[in-house]
Amino acid sequence: MDPTFDARSLIERISEDEKAHALKINTEVRKSLAEFLRNEGFLEIPPVIISTITDPLFHSTGGAEIEYAGAKFRLTKSMIFHKQLAILAHDKIFSFSPNIRLEPPEMADTGAHLLEFTQLDLEMAYEPRNSVIELAEDMICHVISHVKKNCQEQLDRFGRDLNVPDKPFERITYKEAHDEYGGIYEEVLSQKKKEPFWIIDYPITGREFYDREKPDDPGFLDDMDMIYPEGYGEALSGGSREYRRDRIEKRILRQGLDLDDYHVYLELAEEGLSPSSGFGLGIERLVRYICGLSDLEAITLFPKTPGSVSI
Ligand code: ASP
Ligand code: MG
Repeated sequence: MDPTFDARSLIERISEDEKAHALKINTEVRKSLAEFLRNEGFLEIPPVIISTITDPLFHSTGGAEIEYAGAKFRLTKSMIFHKQLAILAHDKIFSFSPNIRLEPPEMADTGAHLLEFTQLDLEMAYEPRNSVIELAEDMICHVISHVKKNCQEQLDRFGRDLNVPDKPFERITYKEAHDEYGGIYEEVLSQKKKEPFWIIDYPITGREFYDREKPDDPGFLDDMDMIYPEGYGEALSGGSREYRRDRIEKRILRQGLDLDDYHVYLELAEEGLSPSSGFGLGIERLVRYICGLSDLEAITLFPKTPGSVSI
């Protein structure tokens, strides 16, 4: 147990006005996201918390495992594989999915990472990347106008004057961004821009194996991140997906991962996955952006900050 744990100060922290206002905004954000997606014909699937397979992620993020019945269950880092399966039965699905990502302690300083957060994960069968890009733009505009209508008092308390962004959002290729700003392109562009925008076509060497390689531009992926303006950074990651077994196998090997860890997924791909596109959007980061605050801790009732022990 954390030796600095203090029951009174925990109760004071969860009772802060700032957290109450953020929680009201969080409630309206989740409500308007679900409403929007239901109106678009999506079905909500309950989240998967433990599974024998989860997203390997191409970051410094550690995973957590539970031994049970002689097997290893992994705590969900993202529901990507389950989304690819779910769309075999239902064309449009979403989930409010708790994700566990054991971030290294130095990530505490970013204000943008928690060990436990909620991802709005969605996927559309047979749709190209462009469909989910347009859907995401409509969704963000819907949520911001809903919050402006329903949480003006809270926005005023945060001194936040937020506009509904203009569509379509600007699209910048990774190549353009990287050529101009080098490795810190995301931070620089996020600081410079006044409205959310897209970075598209990431290189195959820097992302997970499940995003599809562009047929007309080998080495680059048919994927995207939405980035918030004003320095708020990444909103969502997604793309169109690889679904062909032989390609998936090559991509797993290319990433230096062990095929044995993915044998279930490879067998499913052999049986027949479908083309699809989708994304995962961090709910807490969206709320942080809407509130105009710099740290996820401020808007989360029970924050799990990297490097810290907490209830
Ligand atoms: N790869 C995303 C993530 O980082 C999710 C997605 O692509 O759907 O969780
Ligand atoms: Mg991402």
